[in-house]
Amino acid sequence: MSRKKKTHIFENIEVIDAAAKGKSVAKAPDGKVIFLSNAVPGDVVDIKTGRKRKSYYEGKAIKFHQLSNKRTTPVCDYFGVCGGCKWQNMDYKAQLDFKQNEVANNLIRIGHLELPDVTPILGCKDIYFYRNKMEFSFSSSRWLTEDEIKSDIDFSGENACGFHIPGMWDKILNIDKCHLQENPSNDIRNFIRDLANKRGISFYHPRHQVGMLRTLMIRITSIGEIMVVIQFAEHQPDIHQLILDEVLKHFPEITSLQYVVNQKGNDTIYDQEVILYHGRDHIFEKMEDLKFKINAKSFYQTNSAQAYELYKITRDFAGLSGRELVYDLYTGTGTIAQFVAKKAKKVVGVESVPEAIADAKENAKNNQIDNASFFVGDMAKVFTDEFIAKNGTPDVIITDPPRDGMHKKVVEQILKIAPNKIVYVSCNSATQARDLALLNVKYKLTKTQAVDMFPQTHHVENVVLLELR
Ligand code: SAH
Repeated sequence: MSRKKKTHIFENIEVIDAAAKGKSVAKAPDGKVIFLSNAVPGDVVDIKTGRKRKSYYEGKAIKFHQLSNKRTTPVCDYFGVCGGCKWQNMDYKAQLDFKQNEVANNLIRIGHLELPDVTPILGCKDIYFYRNKMEFSFSSSRWLTEDEIKSDIDFSGENACGFHIPGMWDKILNIDKCHLQENPSNDIRNFIRDLANKRGISFYHPRHQVGMLRTLMIRITSIGEIMVVIQFAEHQPDIHQLILDEVLKHFPEITSLQYVVNQKGNDTIYDQEVILYHGRDHIFEKMEDLKFKINAKSFYQTNSAQAYELYKITRDFAGLSGRELVYDLYTGTGTIAQFVAKKAKKVVGVESVPEAIADAKENAKNNQIDNASFFVGDMAKVFTDEFIAKNGTPDVIITDPPRDGMHKKVVEQILKIAPNKIVYVSCNSATQARDLALLNVKYKLTKTQAVDMFPQTHHVENVVLLELR
């Protein structure tokens, strides 16, 4: 027996708040919460819901009676279709307010913490074109927007280069102008797409796994160095050369032109050989007096300008005098470790990705930092009594874990060694609050500062300072 989806229509409902994952919230007449995918807090709407979950609904606004004064006109033609910038229809000031609130709510509700005076969230100067890295996909399986379907243009057989449609792994939305990365990013992507279309070079079909052009990664650093990595799916050197030569001819400013021939099932280049075609196999990013070498597989914070602000706050919170032993947990390529090294006696960085640690060591050497050591391993396994006996008990711990937060064992170990200060940088204030609740037995939350690294999205970073009670 098939179960019919039961939907509801609720009329004239005010959208009251922003919710996780870029959604917004309203309340149904029965008192349950409705999560909406297409409305802005302040809108008054009619809502059609999907099946009721246990304690809430999920739905869509189907009629707008009143538009919120927090609304703004999205700059991008693909808004609502492309999954990238879900908050583009919201004024930046409102975006910041919601981010700040989310962080405070998580610290209070999940962490059960008493908040110190909260400094206002630090917004970005550039709310568009702020990313230093973009990854685009080529596809012969193009997603057509409603406008494209309605238009007179015949798109049949058209190839696309752009982004995956949310929830559709095999469909690509063609992008002519993305507002996230500065030019020549858009020009390079469009040039390669048009060149391939003109020359009849095939685009990859994700389901059938055939076709030549697969992905394109573009990195542009704040000092203007450009890295382009083209991923091909077929081994045909003459076609690779044709494309690479043309790209270079039209964009001689490219610092590093590289390619990958990936014939396996998934797109990741991390297990693939990256072949240098022109220039260096790396580019440089600069921050203060530091230079960071970035290769095709390196991790680097994607918003360079705001990463600098985030690191300055982290360093300020650490309040170093030059005599401290500092641990930088989840150090990545050691950027925070190097950023604070001059103000510390010694810095110890720990990270699970071996290539990141290799980059960290090389960058530290190039930056003439000789008081930083880096270790590879899973934090829960590496950060042991033995490790601390060998490297010394830290005065300050800086920790910047991934979205899941810290492993319970890591939190327990921090409590055991009890450094004077902990600076916790987080990209997910919910898991940060969970971890802070555990640390609360010994530590007082004395500073908290949200930082927006990703305007037009719901993502927010939060830095806190904990001091031993
Ligand atoms: N602080 C760095 C990177 C932070 S991102 C910067 O600002 O650039 C979080 C890092 O944690 C990533 O580099 C990831 O590889 C690392 N990581 C994730 N899980 C880990 C684990 N279990 N043990 C150690 N490192 C881990």
